[in-house]
Amino acid sequence: MSKHKQKKHFYLLSLGCSKNTVDSESMAALLHKAGFAGVTDPDDASVLIVNTCGFIESARQESIGALQELADLKQKNQLLIAAGCMAQRYGDEVVQWVPGIDGVIGTRRWMDIVPFVRKLRRRKHPEPLYHLPDEATTVGLDERGVLRTAVQGASAYVKISDGCRRPCAFCAIPQIKGTHVSRPLDSIIAEAAALQAAGVQELILIAQDTTDYGHDLGLKNGTSHLLRTIAKAAPDIPWIRLMYAYPGYVTDELIETMATLPQMVHYLDIPLQHGHRETLKRMRRPANIEWVYQTVDKLRSAMPDIAIRTTFIVGYPGETDEEFAGLKQFVRDLQFDRFGAFTYSYEASTPSATVAWQVPEEVKEARRDELMQLQQAISLAKNQAQVGRVLPVLVEGYGDGVSVGRTYRDAPEIDGLVIIPGELPLGQLVPVRIDGAMTYDLTGQPETGPAQPITLSMSNITIPL
Ligand code: SF4
Repeated sequence: MSKHKQKKHFYLLSLGCSKNTVDSESMAALLHKAGFAGVTDPDDASVLIVNTCGFIESARQESIGALQELADLKQKNQLLIAAGCMAQRYGDEVVQWVPGIDGVIGTRRWMDIVPFVRKLRRRKHPEPLYHLPDEATTVGLDERGVLRTAVQGASAYVKISDGCRRPCAFCAIPQIKGTHVSRPLDSIIAEAAALQAAGVQELILIAQDTTDYGHDLGLKNGTSHLLRTIAKAAPDIPWIRLMYAYPGYVTDELIETMATLPQMVHYLDIPLQHGHRETLKRMRRPANIEWVYQTVDKLRSAMPDIAIRTTFIVGYPGETDEEFAGLKQFVRDLQFDRFGAFTYSYEASTPSATVAWQVPEEVKEARRDELMQLQQAISLAKNQAQVGRVLPVLVEGYGDGVSVGRTYRDAPEIDGLVIIPGELPLGQLVPVRIDGAMTYDLTGQPETGPAQPITLSMSNITIPL
């Protein structure tokens, strides 16, 4: 491609979580607004950007690998920029790890990408430039009118806040992103209305901690207030999904809001991280185990068909056999519909690094595998309970004579799919009669009649373990 034509092209690689995906989409929107065009082949671009993840070691290695690959192929007229969490957390070390990087811009100032590119182009020396202001991220609809959204097919991730004020001992995010800052309500509402107009079928609300929304805006029960306001502003969006709830902040008000708002899918993602009091105390996480049992009960009473997703860390420093056994019993008792289990990742700058007894890697991995095996039996039985139901499925793909999609029980990228014979309309909600269950996925047939509500009570499902 001619040098001139390349001049206004950018290539952006987004790594890490859905929140990073939203930041990447917003940076792309700003570049488009400034007259750049996105390309999928780095050779065709003059600006190469990697929106990195710096949360844990494996994510850092992936980010360094991606930057190195681009640095190795970089042509004379190309700029290579490291953006995102690893850039924010490590600054100039990133350039030492990957020589050839021209600029480092932090995750807190992603919205300065255009002036930063222009500054890089004007520089008179080959030295890299850094843009790492440490004031907390401003997450509002900034003056350049860029939406804080990542639209994927008929679904959109909507970031409602950024940063976090929780003290979790293993987590570096508060160091990277700063404290929790809620987006102004009106900017989220404007976005929801714009997404409705764009035909979006599902809003997936994300943040580090969605249940802390509005605490800095003087809102009591801010998350409930936000959900009700979104539902009013975008009544034609059928699905609103809440991710990343923090234990202890799933209030009765929030449960009631989820149960009474027709657009709220009966699904909640609430990372619990462990199920033993002593481990949770060392993690500096809410350790009131009774609260979890009671809240799961309340959720299932208010919404008998609710799907609950969680996340666990195994092998946390000091985790004894007895504590791990406690976690397994917790999982048997509460029977989550979905969960992810991760081995603890040593993070030098976090309090967890100072805990004396670090669990050996092989023990961590064995525990993760054992926990996932336990969950697979639960997940299969929960899926088998869906057989015979008619569920709305959001169709997201088609190929080889079958369509794939998700039910309300599935968040994108992390949960299951439904496989349906025939070509169904992409991006639409279609009633499907479920006729088969696998460990994580379902099969079904298109149903001509309307979806049937369910009166299933989770209590009559017993898992012989
Ligand atoms: S709530 Fe989540 S993002 Fe916040 S410190 Fe804890 S683990 Fe990290």
